[in-house]
Amino acid sequence: MAGIYIHIPFCRQACHYCNFHFSVSQRQKEGFLACLLKEIELRHDFFGKPKEPGDRFRLESVYLGGGTPSILSTSELNRIFERLAEYFDYDLGNEITLEANPDDLTFEKLEALRQTPINRLSIGIQSFHEADLKYMNRVHSPQQAIQAIENALTLGFENLTIDLIYGTPTMNDSQWKENLQRTIDLGIEHISAYALTVEPKTALDVFIRRGQAKPVEEEQSARQFEIMLEMLARHGYEHYEISNFALPGKFSRHNLSYWTGKPYLGLGPSAHSFRGTERSWNPPNTTKYIHSIQKGLLLLESEQLSPSQRYDEYLMTSLRTMWGCNLKKVKEGWGEEKGKELENQCLRFIEQGQMIKKDSHLILTEKGKLFADRIASDLFWV
Ligand code: SF4
Repeated sequence: MAGIYIHIPFCRQACHYCNFHFSVSQRQKEGFLACLLKEIELRHDFFGKPKEPGDRFRLESVYLGGGTPSILSTSELNRIFERLAEYFDYDLGNEITLEANPDDLTFEKLEALRQTPINRLSIGIQSFHEADLKYMNRVHSPQQAIQAIENALTLGFENLTIDLIYGTPTMNDSQWKENLQRTIDLGIEHISAYALTVEPKTALDVFIRRGQAKPVEEEQSARQFEIMLEMLARHGYEHYEISNFALPGKFSRHNLSYWTGKPYLGLGPSAHSFRGTERSWNPPNTTKYIHSIQKGLLLLESEQLSPSQRYDEYLMTSLRTMWGCNLKKVKEGWGEEKGKELENQCLRFIEQGQMIKKDSHLILTEKGKLFADRIASDLFWV
């Protein structure tokens, strides 16, 4: 089965580290929504033409990301769900996630969200410490973060995931442990945790270069990553992807589809889609998106993935997961020789304690996870 990602390109405030596509002006919100509904109609047969008239494709997950999708009112969200339901089948047994910022999740808003198909909230907490939130220019306060989670739990949102960021120069190791402990104490079942990275041309990049913000130290991020692995494992979380942790059975179905090569349809500006050997995307420009869809035209760009690109992608994504890279799959997809070559290339990582081989799977150890991207790129096709 497959999933749909919908990009909502609006935010209340620009976080200093962010390089996603969004606007802090909501001037184009209505125009965008109308076009999003139109795009659903235009691309409804992305997963294949219906066999019978009226047949609808069954979805496993819907993910509203951004941007800040919780900026939309529940009636705006319901317009999206109603349009999806015209072409796709999904029910409460599927995973329907809304990315939300804590300042949007008032008790009243959450009550209203309970009446929509949304059954999973991904809350952008990032930190429970004031100095961190200020450094990142997050719009919410620590109190709002805690209140949002408590409200969601009170109202019966059982499937919660939160985002955390480590490696901020404003957070020492004991404050990071406090963030993790608070998350554990709140009973959060799924955590996505990212090292703060300074992307070129972001506000943070400019401030650091001008000496107006403290730089980010790699050593601190590595140390805090290790602290997290130890603490979350001790509390029963499975580290199922480099940046994702879950209590047993609480993996994100939507994210798993990205990492296991299932097809997905991305709607809205900057959203990417994937189907077999083809990747396509809407350019990250809301104005152009609106203008073209108003004329009934899709602005899509696309590329056919070559065997070597698919191989590199498979290595990159599979090595980041706890299941690792399956040599059988490599041999089936890219030939016996390639599988053997990969196995030989990995011997040095196994000797260095960065990887293990379990049955036919090559899996990174805790030590290897620190260098996941570098190890994958050393193994690329060339
Ligand atoms: S809320 Fe999310 S998308 Fe919006 S600016 Fe902050 S990090 Fe970027």
